[in-house]
Amino acid sequence: MSTPDRFVTVLDMSRGSGELRRVAPDAPILTAFDYAATRGDGAFEAMHIVNGIINKPERHLERLARSLGNLGIIGPTPAQWTGLITDLASQWPDDTEGVIKLVISRGQEGGSAGQPPTVYGTITPLDPELALQRRKGIDVISLTFGYPAAIREQSPWLLGGTKYLSYAVNMAAKRHAAAQNVQDVIFLSHEGEVLEGPNASVLWLTGDTLHTTPQETGILRGTTQEKIFDEAATAGLRAKVSPAALADLLESDGVWMSSSTRGVAAVRSIDGTPVSQSPERTSDLHRLSGLPVPK
Ligand code: PLP
Repeated sequence: MSTPDRFVTVLDMSRGSGELRRVAPDAPILTAFDYAATRGDGAFEAMHIVNGIINKPERHLERLARSLGNLGIIGPTPAQWTGLITDLASQWPDDTEGVIKLVISRGQEGGSAGQPPTVYGTITPLDPELALQRRKGIDVISLTFGYPAAIREQSPWLLGGTKYLSYAVNMAAKRHAAAQNVQDVIFLSHEGEVLEGPNASVLWLTGDTLHTTPQETGILRGTTQEKIFDEAATAGLRAKVSPAALADLLESDGVWMSSSTRGVAAVRSIDGTPVSQSPERTSDLHRLSGLPVPK
């Protein structure tokens, strides 16, 4: 029998203490009425694992708690989440980069008030192409996100700062990029302010200052960006949150996109215009992200 390359564990919240149940990767675990399927109403997290080391799980659990607070969903306790993560990680072989995904929905559409949420986790191999992008860099396009930069902070129903399950728009933007033979997207606000990628934060350099975009725009706070910023001084970098237009990125000393699974990828061009490269700073950012760079 070949070794399975992905694993699924359900955290059954209908039992008081939350019971872990390993299931076959192709086993059905949602009903037809689950809010995850019918409304995309829930939250998720994706974190990196290699050689038994999970990258910054505490930051992911903090963000998940914020997402669930914004959605008004009462989720598992931190100890229950940690139990789920540990169960998945314990099945993963060393030397293989993997992605641990935590998924939670509001439960069953039409279910009773106070019903338990649906909760499960998966672990899968990282797409090797994403790991290679750490070394090769990426070309990106800018696309409008449509909203004014200030609107989401004033409008909690727009779920700014929430890693909700409904990522169809984010996936559509990625497909739009792929159709133009580029690897990623930088979303711009209605007025042209730089926001984030569909699943990555945007970083740029001026001199020895590393910048990222303000969370007040409703972007998702990136755990990788925050880890890099917290440790930036160890690489002799200052860290600053700055509103920016695309022109600021094009005039900067380097642009990167950061995320938990791909890690840090240097942006080679935006909308076909070359971007300054800083290989030394790219190495610094790889080190600060904690992810390996393939040979
Ligand atoms: N922005 C969005 C919309 C995302 O989906 C992600 C990915 O999770 C990020 C930014 C980067 O966050 P992280 O570094 O925590 O993966």
